[in-house]
Amino acid sequence: MSTGFAYSDDFLQHNAHPRVPHFESSNRLLTCMDRLSKAAFFPYFYKPEIRPISAEILSLVHTEYHIQKVQDSAGQKGYFDGDTPFTEESWLSAFSAAGSGIALVDALIEGKIKNGFSLLRPPGHHAERDRIMGFCMFNNIAIAARYLQLHGFKKIFILDWDVHHGNGTQEIFYSDPDIFYASIHQYPFYPMTGSYDEIGYGLGKGTTLNVPMPVDSHNAAYIKAFEKKIIPTMERFEPEIILISAGFDAHKRDPLGGMKVTTLGFEKLSEMVLSSAYHLCEGKVLSFLEGGYDIDALAECVEVHLTILDSFS
Ligand SMILES: [Zn+2]
Repeated sequence: MSTGFAYSDDFLQHNAHPRVPHFESSNRLLTCMDRLSKAAFFPYFYKPEIRPISAEILSLVHTEYHIQKVQDSAGQKGYFDGDTPFTEESWLSAFSAAGSGIALVDALIEGKIKNGFSLLRPPGHHAERDRIMGFCMFNNIAIAARYLQLHGFKKIFILDWDVHHGNGTQEIFYSDPDIFYASIHQYPFYPMTGSYDEIGYGLGKGTTLNVPMPVDSHNAAYIKAFEKKIIPTMERFEPEIILISAGFDAHKRDPLGGMKVTTLGFEKLSEMVLSSAYHLCEGKVLSFLEGGYDIDALAECVEVHLTILDSFS
């Protein structure tokens, strides 16, 4: 079986206002694609067709008002929030980015892939049920998790290693005992959520894990947190599949994050999760791009992450 790779030119259509440069730009993906096109493994990946997601599937996670807001931005220019501009075609990028997760899930269920990665934008983990926020329109990973549940997956583990806390994903699953949300992130930092004592609510109490890390944390601190906290928690939960919010903005060269993780560090973290997944859930892992704003560091990290996915498929 092979690794799935989801990408579409639709993801390039969302652009910040021409006169206002934005970190979350289409150059991020173009640089990754340029690098990947030279990688020996790339031609062997299964590349599903990406279609814009339906409002019906989006409504598994988002409110009608939220979906409508993105839809109504078609042909317009403006700001959803201070950090999240939109232009005429941004809605298409958002609908197709969310659709890429559906395409990977379908390919997994059909037995075409064992694991997969979506090189998508806009990212998703800050988007709440009813709130567009922090470059994120739809919560791509949350939608994939709900879609997996529709197809009989009961226990799903979401690991978020973006340098920012995924407040949106946490909010969506905070009282859900079947979807575990674990995040390792810089703290205190944007969006200021993700402290140790946020552990879930009601039936979901105990299925949220936050591992806040001080600024300047290196590879060793991340590896230790994975060994001591994240991997054991994942093993106790016994998920049927693992989803990764794979942001690479904890990289030492990232202009937004304040961490010191290297490309080799991300390779090691990827390897730790995939080898654990191999024993826990037959290696079923779907990974979604979140942040990562030094475009060369991002492209390096995406390549090493894909190398690990490839070696486990
Ligand atoms: Zn981030």
